[in-house]
Amino acid sequence: MHDVVIIGGGYAGCLLDSLLEGLDTLLIEEKGIGSKDVSAVTFMRIVDSDDVIRNTYDSYTLMTVDGDSEKYEFGEDVFCLVDYEKLCRSLVRSDVVEGKVIGYSSGKVELEDETIESKIIIDCSGINGESLRKKFGFKTPPIVNALRFERITSPDWVDPSTFYLIVGFANFGGWIYPLGNEFLEFGMANRFRRGDNILFPDIDKARDLFGFKRGSGLKTALYPYGFVKKVVRNGVIIFGDASGLTHPVYGMSLHYISKMATKLADVIKKTIRGKGKLGEYQVIWKETLRRASSLIAGGYSIWSLPLNTQVRLTKLQMKLKISPRSVLDQMWAFDEEFEVYAKHHPKFTDYPLTLHLKTILNRIKMMI
Ligand SMILES: Cc1cc2nc3c(=O)[nH]c(=O)nc-3n(C[C@H](O)[C@H](O)[C@H](O)COP(=O)(O)OP(=O)(O)OC[C@H]3O[C@@H](n4cnc5c(N)ncnc54)[C@H](O)[C@@H]3O)c2cc1C
Repeated sequence: MHDVVIIGGGYAGCLLDSLLEGLDTLLIEEKGIGSKDVSAVTFMRIVDSDDVIRNTYDSYTLMTVDGDSEKYEFGEDVFCLVDYEKLCRSLVRSDVVEGKVIGYSSGKVELEDETIESKIIIDCSGINGESLRKKFGFKTPPIVNALRFERITSPDWVDPSTFYLIVGFANFGGWIYPLGNEFLEFGMANRFRRGDNILFPDIDKARDLFGFKRGSGLKTALYPYGFVKKVVRNGVIIFGDASGLTHPVYGMSLHYISKMATKLADVIKKTIRGKGKLGEYQVIWKETLRRASSLIAGGYSIWSLPLNTQVRLTKLQMKLKISPRSVLDQMWAFDEEFEVYAKHHPKFTDYPLTLHLKTILNRIKMMI
């Protein structure tokens, strides 16, 4: 019997694996380590190896689809575009079993041709493993984002030292991640409630808006959004995309996974050594969500507004001249406190009443 079996070799599973030294662990991956199609920028401080970095950025540019923009400069390289497969591969420490998990129960993981026993099971199987979790009784994140992205030749106006987040075409925004002077990754994301008809953004139209030429390597991906509240159940923990662990405003997940992985690894080690219980992670998770509830409620509310309101509020944010430090702190924050310093202070009435009401409602929903 293994101490820990991790299902899924994406960033969540691989990072956790790297932190469980001293335990008998096994990683099961169906399609190849880090094989998900991802176009991800994250904080350089969570990346250990230069080999996995494709580009670095010393600023972030907020942009509306009609071309307004505000650049937040940090004075040093703070962010990087990662090679997801290399990042995940660089972290794996355990033996990897190539195979598809078809189900699990307390202490047992079922593959097509064998059953593996384990004291603890960590489900890091992302969006593709949702049926496993439903069968076991876990809930799934309430929103699904449908993303379409491609590689494009950079026009002159794109600055390779900054990355761009775009508001106004798709209702979960879009991005431009430059790859040096010559190329960039460009994508758009639509968000849907479960059960809605999922439509990937019309990238041809979006590309025309920015005057980009048709790119190559068009990819689509689904990406869950919204925190699952119960993450521990009968010896199984869900982690990463499986638990909806993503920044509620910026949709960035890798640094959130990195923050929670050390806490989860501690609980797992203590449990295996008989000095703690897995349920302690549920307590940590609940407390983290409580402390983050205002950020979470704000993010849920903003992204559920109509597109024209999202654009109006983005232009308001640009006018406020928020300090780059505040933007950085907000991007990094999960349950940490952060202050917003702005040159021009907004009034309560600058924001639509629906935003205030939605935020209160979402905060209450988070707390109960
Ligand atoms: C297009 C795109 C752009 C993004 N941009 C950013 C960004 O800029 N910054 C950022 O921080 N985040 C970004 N994200 C989000 C981030 O990439 C994900 O949140 C993160 O990769 C999730 O990692 P994970 O390990 O939880 O899931 P995954 O990487 O999805 O890993 C799950 C793994 O489980 C395996 N699996 C599934 N089912 C089974 C099964 N039954 N048996 C065995 N194995 C199974 C899968 O094959 C997969 O390898 C983006 C995501 C996408 C899709």
